[in-house]
Amino acid sequence: MRAERPPVEWIGSPFYGYPRGTKGRKDYKVIAIVNHIMAGTLEGTDAWFNDEKSGGVSAHFGIGKDGTIHQYVSLGDVARHAGIVREPNWPLLIADVNPNWYTIGIEHEGYPDEQMPEAQFQSTLALQSWLVEIFNLEVNQNTIISHSRIDSVVKGNCPGSNFPWERLFQSLTSQATGFSDVPFDHWAAAALKRVVDAGIMSGYPDKTFQGDNAVTRYELASTIDRLMKKSN
Ligand SMILES: [Zn+2]
Repeated sequence: MRAERPPVEWIGSPFYGYPRGTKGRKDYKVIAIVNHIMAGTLEGTDAWFNDEKSGGVSAHFGIGKDGTIHQYVSLGDVARHAGIVREPNWPLLIADVNPNWYTIGIEHEGYPDEQMPEAQFQSTLALQSWLVEIFNLEVNQNTIISHSRIDSVVKGNCPGSNFPWERLFQSLTSQATGFSDVPFDHWAAAALKRVVDAGIMSGYPDKTFQGDNAVTRYELASTIDRLMKKSN
């Protein structure tokens, strides 16, 4: 084991499993980590995940701006964090199976338009490094995802465009490989960076571009070629 479990404080929530209170994940394996933003505080989330008024929602973890990590649901149980699928953009989605069965949910204190504080980044990195290792996940854009990939209609801004995807992927990848200068782990990263640097497109690497399946490499390359000619 390279990654160590970061310090985690157990809070707990009665809102796990289907039907509620059911332990375990049936035969489903965890295949992805879903990142969320609380649109609120850690303290408020502690209360919300224990309040019937929430409608029975939860996540496995919540991370405060100061780096504090709270846990609400055991890793072997299903947290109720991303169960509604609306216009998804995630190729690993299993048809007609609630994604909560095969994902881990992490909430982050704050709002979608805010910059993540350093302490919070370090905690989410440590937590996700550890989860990647214990669930034996490859680090890529389909195993570390945003809630918006599962529900792009209502949760399109979860966790929002300021979530530090690039740094998170770089750090996770470099920890996994032992190299510090591994590029952002996506086949289109260099091409996208060119377009962003040229001021043609913004938002990279948020939900404006996701996944391997939306376009072929050829389609993307020829689009970039056309855009670059236009901008020169
Ligand atoms: Zn969310």
